[in-house]
Amino acid sequence: MAAKQHRMTRQRRIILETVKGLKTHPTADEVFGLVRKKLPRISLGTVYRNLELLTEQGIIQKLDTAGQQKRFDGDISPHSHVKCVKCGKIDDLYFELPKPSAAWAGQTRFKILEYKVELLGICPDCQKKMEQN
Ligand SMILES: [Zn+2]
Ligand SMILES: [Zn+2]
Repeated sequence: MAAKQHRMTRQRRIILETVKGLKTHPTADEVFGLVRKKLPRISLGTVYRNLELLTEQGIIQKLDTAGQQKRFDGDISPHSHVKCVKCGKIDDLYFELPKPSAAWAGQTRFKILEYKVELLGICPDCQKKMEQN
């Protein structure tokens, strides 16, 4: 039992190191592909469960990009994302957003706590491809 517990911890540590080591905001599938090189017997389900757990614990964050595979981010500092409309690649942007406007409050009875911004763009690789065509 103790040994199993230990193995779980090691799995989670390797999954965490993998996500923290990537700037690409990987999907669970991508994390699985990399983690499997170190832990050949690990399953996608285990990777997914650990990613969800690390997210719940606030150690990593999950990006809510609509209608796509969930992506994970090892950087939990406040930042925004720009997504390539061609290939879906994501990059980080660090800037401070203005506080939610008091004028917005008149449009809803909700108390506004925060808002998130997703920027859309074309990544350097896709720009290059477009220039070549
Ligand atoms: Zn792109
Ligand atoms: Zn990020």
